[in-house]
Amino acid sequence: MSTIYIDKELCKGCAVCVSFCPLKLINMSDHDVNASGYAIAEMNSDSCTACAICAMMCPDSAITVVKEDKK
Ligand code: SF4
Ligand code: SF4
Repeated sequence: MSTIYIDKELCKGCAVCVSFCPLKLINMSDHDVNASGYAIAEMNSDSCTACAICAMMCPDSAITVVKEDKK
């Protein structure tokens, strides 16, 4: 399963990744904030295709895509 890792402290809660994920797999947390007080983005599914659009669009380079190993 591919997934993304979001660096909580780099995220500024802009929601750009939410807008750009073609599968709508990212949402803004309604309970988790970082040390700066921003609500952070979080993955809401296990269907990530590792397309990396979210990582490319994040203005703060907070997202790392972890691509599934094909077996
Ligand atoms: S685009 Fe980056 S900074 Fe903006 S909400 Fe998503 S992870 Fe956070
Ligand atoms: S890598 Fe692609 S499919 Fe996965 S969360 Fe980011 S934009 Fe969505």
